[in-house]
Amino acid sequence: MKYLFGPVNSRRLGLSLGVDLVPFKTCSLNCVYCECGCTTALTARVEEHVPTDGVIAELDAYLAPRPRLDVITFSGSGEPTLHSGIGRIIDHIRSAHPGYRTALLTNGTLFWREDVRRAVLGADTIVPSLDAAGEEAFARINRPAQGITAAIVVDGLVSLAREYRGELIMEVFIVPGINDGADELGRIRDACERIRPAKIQLNALDRPGTEHWVQPAGRADLERARELFTGFNVEVIARRALRDVQAGGGEARADLERALLATLERRPSTRDDLERTLSVSPDALSRALDALLGEGAVETRIMGGEEYFVKTPQR
Ligand code: SF4
Repeated sequence: MKYLFGPVNSRRLGLSLGVDLVPFKTCSLNCVYCECGCTTALTARVEEHVPTDGVIAELDAYLAPRPRLDVITFSGSGEPTLHSGIGRIIDHIRSAHPGYRTALLTNGTLFWREDVRRAVLGADTIVPSLDAAGEEAFARINRPAQGITAAIVVDGLVSLAREYRGELIMEVFIVPGINDGADELGRIRDACERIRPAKIQLNALDRPGTEHWVQPAGRADLERARELFTGFNVEVIARRALRDVQAGGGEARADLERALLATLERRPSTRDDLERTLSVSPDALSRALDALLGEGAVETRIMGGEEYFVKTPQR
């Protein structure tokens, strides 16, 4: 699969088939906590980064046997709304595969554009992130492409919220020392007052991020932040609260090593994550990981006392 990955057990969405619409790593932000690593193509230009027809053909082939999934999620190794065909793909899923829900994980930077807002209105759930509403914190955490400011992002999200009829869930990633103070959280709260999302999710570093100095916010920090959002439906994302389900289709996967690389390119994972995500036995997983470690295709990093596997960055 070139454009699809998983299915993965998403902390938030359940068993999720991923759709990746941009080449690694194309994004309008270069967030310090990004699990995919440093943004190599920092851009706000909307274009057909991968062939829309190719994505649709892959979806049709994958969904033909009606696999069990909770959701089809636009996410992956960059910002999905940078793809000019996202609206056509969402509409295709709705019309050709109406039994499947769709979700869009987005950095929310392009909703100032009416065409981008219009393109995503058919998604069942949109999860934009908003880690800062003040320009200084926005620049330090999200390191945007030229022309994107916190004010533009907030105004775009307000416009989207006005037009969108699906479920809008805001994600706020807490970076200790930058946006965990009452001032910045207050600005985010004010923005959320204008956006009125169905839910606000407070998130924290869970896997190795791009910058090694970013520390995970503790449960107490997240709970303190939650208090500032009184009046909203707030959820603190519990670490690794995975559903105990097995991903379907794993036994049919012909090339476990390729599936492992596709997963690790998008998300650092523990052995446990990989066993669940790829529906693979511990022995088979160990053999494949040993081979990839031996070739230097995969490396390990320790975070919070746990071992994570990541795809070795290309030099
Ligand atoms: S976290 Fe999302 S928005 Fe930020 S750099 Fe990574 S892919 Fe882009």
